[in-house]
Amino acid sequence: MDLQAQLEELKETTQAKLAEMHGDHAKELQELRVQVLGKKGSLTELLKGLKELSHDMRPVVGKQVNEVRDVLTKAFEEQAKIVEAAKIKAQLESESLDVTLPGRHVNLGNRHVLTQISEDIEDIFIGMGFQVVDGFEVETDYYNFERMNLPKDHPARDMQDTFYITEEILLRTHTSPVQARTLDKHDFAKGPLKMISPGRVFRRDTDDATHSHQFHQIEGLVVGENISMGDLKGTLEMIIKKMFGEDRKIRLRPSYFPFTEPSVEVDVSCFKCGGKGCNVCKKTGWIEILGAGMVHPRVLEMSGVDSEKYSGFAFGLGQERIAMLRYGINDIRGFYQGDMRFSEQFKS
Ligand SMILES: [Zn+2]
Repeated sequence: MDLQAQLEELKETTQAKLAEMHGDHAKELQELRVQVLGKKGSLTELLKGLKELSHDMRPVVGKQVNEVRDVLTKAFEEQAKIVEAAKIKAQLESESLDVTLPGRHVNLGNRHVLTQISEDIEDIFIGMGFQVVDGFEVETDYYNFERMNLPKDHPARDMQDTFYITEEILLRTHTSPVQARTLDKHDFAKGPLKMISPGRVFRRDTDDATHSHQFHQIEGLVVGENISMGDLKGTLEMIIKKMFGEDRKIRLRPSYFPFTEPSVEVDVSCFKCGGKGCNVCKKTGWIEILGAGMVHPRVLEMSGVDSEKYSGFAFGLGQERIAMLRYGINDIRGFYQGDMRFSEQFKS
């Protein structure tokens, strides 16, 4: 068969193959295109035969080659358009929106109950002009104990045994070190220090329904001129009323903490029975809610604060305890287990 007849045949068979294509044939089309018009395709192959022809025939057949290439290129483009249109049509059909279908339910999460309690308490204090200060969970023995008037070998250290990383580095047992660090830096020329430090603390306790090796605290500190026990009582009364209701009363009982003198335990009148006695208050009408006291002069002196001129009060409470009382939770481990059935009960 001569070159001209071969060209004609290539054109016709290719056109026939294109005409047979239907459906989703993008891949087939691309393959055929490479086979016929590609660099190593049939047309290029036939082109090699040109040099075998006589000088007279070369331009004639060359022209025919160009014609065949143009016709086929156009035919492939037409097919490509059909493929594209079919693709768009299929896409539109598959993505069509049925507005009568009910919507898909999106599950919304909620803040953890301890976060909610922390933020509620922080809001109350911010409203009273306190600053909220964050600190390190890994602390030095010096800031965690010695600066809290608990020198090495002090027996009260036993109440707060913790996890040691080295002899001098440990997981903090309270957020008090944040207060010492803030007091170190405070400039009293600008006014009194009023701060709270919320955060996670650690004790070497065996976990059970009421003990956990980690829990949360919010501790507060106010230091300035003429700060008295009256200021402590007034501040706590205000906070407790905001947290548990305007009808609540508070009562202070003497206690002991190494870093405050005098020290008190603060009770709130039972918010469940109003003081008559129930299971929440263990029939006493009162619930122990926090520890507090006047900052020990030694603690002030260690921060370089003149304890003759300045005085202050400090207090600390636990978010877990507040949550357990408020919601009647009887196992502290629920806070940390990440069980959705537990967490979902506290949607705010
Ligand atoms: Zn009660």
